Amino acid sequence: MRTIGLLGGMSWESSALYYRLLNEAVREQLGGLHSARCVLLSVDFAGIERLQASGDWARAGELLATDARSLQAAGADLVVLCTNTMHTVADAITAAIDVPFLHIGDTTAEAVAAAGLTRIGLLGTRYTMEQPFLADRLSAAGLEVLVPDEADRDLVHRVIYEELVLGVVRDGSRRAYQQVVDRLVARGAQGVVLGCTEIELLIGPDDVDVPTFPTTALHAAAAVRAALAPAPSAGPPTIVG
Ligand code: GLU
Repeated sequence: MRTIGLLGGMSWESSALYYRLLNEAVREQLGGLHSARCVLLSVDFAGIERLQASGDWARAGELLATDARSLQAAGADLVVLCTNTMHTVADAITAAIDVPFLHIGDTTAEAVAAAGLTRIGLLGTRYTMEQPFLADRLSAAGLEVLVPDEADRDLVHRVIYEELVLGVVRDGSRRAYQQVVDRLVARGAQGVVLGCTEIELLIGPDDVDVPTFPTTALHAAAAVRAALAPAPSAGPPTIVG
């Protein structure tokens, strides 16, 4: 089994979910007492949030690139960045490591395309809904991406930073998110990407009428597939003599 490197703490509420999902998936697939082999580097989110709010993505990229290198040095065979938003600095991270980086946008796009959908709503932080780094990955898979209007983006963003990353899950916010999804569906969305790793702590498939694509669960499942994939064959043995 390969060692999964988790770059987490953004927030730790969703990193805890990643950890649980990885271990459950490995137990399910290998049985018995098997669990995921992983290393976690969990940052202090306050510092990252300050850099987000001030738009200093370059500095955030430098910090996370250094952390990703530390994960590699600690034995990670692949790196999983446990947040959608910070994939905005994915290039800085991939440039700093030699092991594979499992991009959350690619694992999400594959799942949406496999479900046969072509037009998808995207919920996430303001950064994720307004910058191209995630939507571009979905578009590259042939998907049309719809984001909520300005007022709904405000609401979705505010609930993430004022509630979900603090572990606060409110029924009123769930209802508000359901209405945001309804408005996306009215505009033609056939499903919705829960493009923030805490959103699946608030809403799930039973809360809305269209398929949901929970990025934490999809990303964790992809990490386990990568960790358990057979090593590439060295080819047939050479017969000497
Ligand atoms: N975990 C969130 C995400 O998936 C938001 C927190 C962050 O900004 O990293 O985007």
